[in-house]
Amino acid sequence: MKYALLDRGDRLSRELAERFHDLARQRGLTRDESSPEIVLSIGGDGTLLQAFHRFRDKVGSVAFVGVHTGHLGFYADWKKDELEELVQLMATVEPKTVSYPLLRVEIVTDGGTSVYLALNEFTLKSVDGTLVAQLNINDEPFEMFRGDGIVVSTPTGSTGYNKSVNGAVIHPHLEALQIAEIASINNRVYRTLGSSLILPKHHHCDIVTDPEEPLAVGIDHLVMQFHEVRSIICSVADEKVQFARYRPFPFWNRVREAFIGFKPEDAVQAAQKRPK
Ligand code: NAP
Ligand code: MN
Repeated sequence: MKYALLDRGDRLSRELAERFHDLARQRGLTRDESSPEIVLSIGGDGTLLQAFHRFRDKVGSVAFVGVHTGHLGFYADWKKDELEELVQLMATVEPKTVSYPLLRVEIVTDGGTSVYLALNEFTLKSVDGTLVAQLNINDEPFEMFRGDGIVVSTPTGSTGYNKSVNGAVIHPHLEALQIAEIASINNRVYRTLGSSLILPKHHHCDIVTDPEEPLAVGIDHLVMQFHEVRSIICSVADEKVQFARYRPFPFWNRVREAFIGFKPEDAVQAAQKRPK
């Protein structure tokens, strides 16, 4: 089994990475940073986003595993004191892999077209002032947006930025993308839906802006500036990202543990205390 490893770069993550390499060597795993089967990230969800973009061209052939050094992550769901267990499983067990949808973003400018894949989301903001953008769905004009920005997220990204702007949390078995607004201005001229909307696979949304306006584009943790943009086309990508699951950790349990902290034991007690 060949693996690559990326750590966040802080002291704890680097120590854990060294420890992992030692354990892996003892178990006969091969470190291969160029053509791995498993890509391990040690740090947080942000570290897994970096690992995803580093191995973006191999997305069909690698499976990711994330270890977190702080709080529970959505992609990083192994704890720092579970390294030994993880290495043992990696050396002896064929993992179940789960595939989750990605977002394809095509940015058409006067100078050419760029295509990106996002694991969490694409964000669009104006470089200065509010963003004005027309949103088309499946080539039909849908609304004229004016406000701070637009977030288009994947299902696994729905618990990230999308959730902070009141988007829905979507189970990653649904092949969909979600468009959420950041502080839209609504009046007689600019009217938007207000709630986030979810498109299925094979639908697409085009965002058309004034080509004179420079744009700030975010793809996951990366931020870029674009000029002379004609349109931006978002759709569910044909490619999917794979995660190696050495043990089950259902998505809704992760959502509950990350955001609610509610334990099933408490539910039973609360139900018993409920007045008749
Ligand atoms: P960051 O500023 O460290 O990330 C912000 C937080 O989002 C961190 O706690 C990060 O977890 C967490 N996160 C990342 N992906 C997530 C996901 N799919 N579900 C739930 N939480 C998630 O920057 P970063 O670590 O490079 O991550 C970039 C991501 O941050 C973006 O893709 C975007 O989703 C999110 N973000 C959120 C806001 C907002 O909510 N207002 C603004 C900008 C960016 P870790 O600490 O484990 O890395
Ligand atoms: Mn982070």
